[in-house]
Amino acid sequence: MYRIPFNRVNWVTSSFLIGTALVALIGVPIYLFHHGIDWFQFSMFFFYVTATMMSITVGYHRLFSHLSFKAKLPVKLFTLVFGACAFENSCLNWASDHRRHHKHVDHDEDPYDISKGFFWAHIGWLLFKLDPEPPLDNVADLRKDKWVMLQHRYVHWIALVVGLILPSILGYYWNLSKGMDPATGALGGFLLAGVARIVVAQHCTFFINSLCHTVGRQPYSTSHSARDSAVMAFLTFGEGYHNYHHEFQHDYRNGVKPWQWDPSKWTIWTLSKLGLAEGLRRVPDGRILLAEMGEARRKAQQHLAEMRQHPASTAHRAADALHEMVEKLSANYHELEKAVSDRVQLSREVLNGWQEETRSLMREIRRASATYA
Ligand SMILES: [Zn+2]
Ligand SMILES: [Zn+2]
Repeated sequence: MYRIPFNRVNWVTSSFLIGTALVALIGVPIYLFHHGIDWFQFSMFFFYVTATMMSITVGYHRLFSHLSFKAKLPVKLFTLVFGACAFENSCLNWASDHRRHHKHVDHDEDPYDISKGFFWAHIGWLLFKLDPEPPLDNVADLRKDKWVMLQHRYVHWIALVVGLILPSILGYYWNLSKGMDPATGALGGFLLAGVARIVVAQHCTFFINSLCHTVGRQPYSTSHSARDSAVMAFLTFGEGYHNYHHEFQHDYRNGVKPWQWDPSKWTIWTLSKLGLAEGLRRVPDGRILLAEMGEARRKAQQHLAEMRQHPASTAHRAADALHEMVEKLSANYHELEKAVSDRVQLSREVLNGWQEETRSLMREIRRASATYA
């Protein structure tokens, strides 16, 4: 049994998080049972979820915390206003926590340190304040931004007015214009696009700190707990490729492969084509592949050593067959390492060929270790 530190409960935050979750779980089904759902309420919910989550991923996270691109004023204002509506504190506080998370990942100073358990990383760090609040000493650049500071000062008012009162007013007037009960429309806007949307957006954000450090693969590095998962990417508007993100945090892309689900990356790219964003930072393909090949080589060597320890003689023969592939990967790795350090541009064909070889080796390794586990 965990001992609950009642003297360290963050009462305001805890009441808000638990209260909104209860209203969403109990109030929303009762409302829907009595009044059904019309397309206006549904569209408003969908818009608010998307606007809130995108403002966190594109704005709070990739723009303000990591400076992975530069944005024009309309993008800044939109993400600051709808980011506030997520009720995840001001952009300045969020970025400070998040930069500390990257710097001290999996260690004590990481505010949502996964090594303290899944519950802590997901929501526990908000419910309890075990340590004094650290100073905002890592966001000097953001302090110079007057819009960030304005949002910091009025964040709760923006969240209340745009995040809860506005959808209620819109619901009110929508029903009024359709000759339906306006109070029902206001209640629907408050419950769906307001409270239920806050709960959905918050837990999707919290998943990045909990599940994205628990579920998935680690193709780029095992030096930290962050993982890549397509399912998580779907739930988090592209942030699920978290192993890549922790390895290359200044890249505006999290799902770096063309087929990976990353609507935040597509949005930033589209904004750049519209002249609303510029200076998009990308890690060169050679460096990304080098990380992947280095990690594959490390895992392959570890598996080979395990297979050689295995009592079955077939395991040793399989290890000999794999050994040759690992040697080839090592040779390619060194060639790529030299090209990257000499800043030599390798052709797309060469990189694609090595990428494919690395993947097939990893498939073979997985198959072999499933057989000889
Ligand atoms: Zn993380
Ligand atoms: Zn990050």
